[in-house]
Amino acid sequence: MNLQFDNSYARDLEGLYVPWKAAEVPEPKLVRLNHGLAEELGLDAKALDSAAGAQIFAGNKLPGGTATIALAYAGHQFGGFSPQLGDGRALLLGEVIDNKGKRRDIAFKGSGRTPFSRGGDGKAALGPVLREYLIGEAMHALGIPTTRALAAVTTGEIVRRERNLPGAVLTRVAASHIRVGSFQFLAARGDEARLKKLADYVIDRHYPEVKGAQQPYFELLRALCDRQAKLIANWINVGFIHGVMNTDNMTLSGETIDYGPCAFMDHYNPATVFSSIDEQGRYAYVNQPPIANWNLARFAEALLPLLTVESGGEQDKAVERAMEILADFQQHYERHWLAGMRRKLGLTREDEADFALATDFLAGMEGQDGGAGADFTLAFRRLADVAEGRGELSPFGLRKLYGNAAALDAWLPRWQARLQSEGLAPEKQAAAMRAVNPVYIPRNHRVEEALAAATDLGDYAPFERLLSVLQQPFDERIEFAAYATPATMEESRGYQTFCGT
Ligand code: AMP
Ligand code: MG
Repeated sequence: MNLQFDNSYARDLEGLYVPWKAAEVPEPKLVRLNHGLAEELGLDAKALDSAAGAQIFAGNKLPGGTATIALAYAGHQFGGFSPQLGDGRALLLGEVIDNKGKRRDIAFKGSGRTPFSRGGDGKAALGPVLREYLIGEAMHALGIPTTRALAAVTTGEIVRRERNLPGAVLTRVAASHIRVGSFQFLAARGDEARLKKLADYVIDRHYPEVKGAQQPYFELLRALCDRQAKLIANWINVGFIHGVMNTDNMTLSGETIDYGPCAFMDHYNPATVFSSIDEQGRYAYVNQPPIANWNLARFAEALLPLLTVESGGEQDKAVERAMEILADFQQHYERHWLAGMRRKLGLTREDEADFALATDFLAGMEGQDGGAGADFTLAFRRLADVAEGRGELSPFGLRKLYGNAAALDAWLPRWQARLQSEGLAPEKQAAAMRAVNPVYIPRNHRVEEALAAATDLGDYAPFERLLSVLQQPFDERIEFAAYATPATMEESRGYQTFCGT
């Protein structure tokens, strides 16, 4: 692998990792190489799409310049604090500078046990590896900041879960792997010197704009709040449910990370939860903004020693200011959410009534009398047809889909008047709506179908097809019509995803 590694994390952040080697695996086979991403990184994709590439991405033969390490971090998981989690089945290979001059981490997931594995086997099964590949690429194509898969390999091993499954390793590319939990790890140990080092490192790498500020650590908190508010607004506006928003799964970079029990919502219902272990609905669709805010409060707590110094040594003052910044989260979130909603509704200008216009459209999508809500993705897509004055009454049009006719009758004239007030050509407005409202999302039944074919039959055709659908989510293609529609209510009832597999 012709890569120039420059491993700043290992160089600068001693105490936040342990050097560790990937386990040898018997029979690596390359399942998928991400050619586009490989080229971004300056890799020779053709040369890597080979048996030699499989050896590399399985961790058997590492390229020069890598210095594999397992990262240490802590985290609140479902509200309970663990002072030590860490990479139990992941390793950071190192960092490279991509073709846009951006520093990117390259890491393995599923590369064997580490000192942080606790009871786990350090392995990953093929299904979850492919799920992370698919959903990461889908998020990327939707324009949402995310870690991405560079490669997936099978290892020739069997991993034991509820049943025996093919083992796999995912190679993941990220802006960095620093999490809220990385700060919590040091805070829990009272290691202020390293805490400061980590904060300075994060500012250098992800928030250079706050570097010269008078109070850079308060500015870091403010900037992270805004970046996370934007990320969560992005999730909400495509119906994404992360499923396990623990503080160890919240990045400082503002990228989405760790696609475990995540899933996209089909039928609109704000209380939707897919994860089997999320019995209380802590990470339900509608709870994501307040949970992000809660996680950010944990970040502020970890940062408190540095904030106190910036407050002239007065901790009470530091707490008060941090609380003010955290209280702004909701406002940041609503601003990003509304900007996204305006785009989804075809609006380019701002009007005071837009907030109510957006929330009323959503409220009307909710299920009636115990029935299913309207399909979240298609409702916005079909609304683009109505913007052009067509499709509303067709058998596949908005009216059929929406369900709540009375709500739609009340809402449509308001929206149409608002749309006309912008004075733009309807075709242009519809095209703008189609450029932000996807026709294809990773539908749960399609993801499961692709994973099952690969896992049970070694058939990767459904995975490849779904991947190519998801890579262009806004372009309707006649041959993929079947990927645009939701599962029937019968098929999707009780759909569950599983964590930590
Ligand atoms: P995740 O749910 O993937 O974010 O993982 C939460 C924590 O559990 C992290 O510290 C992981 O490294 C660890 N973990 C998850 N699965 C395994 C496994 N199979 N073996 C060892 N550690 C694991
Ligand atoms: Mg994690």
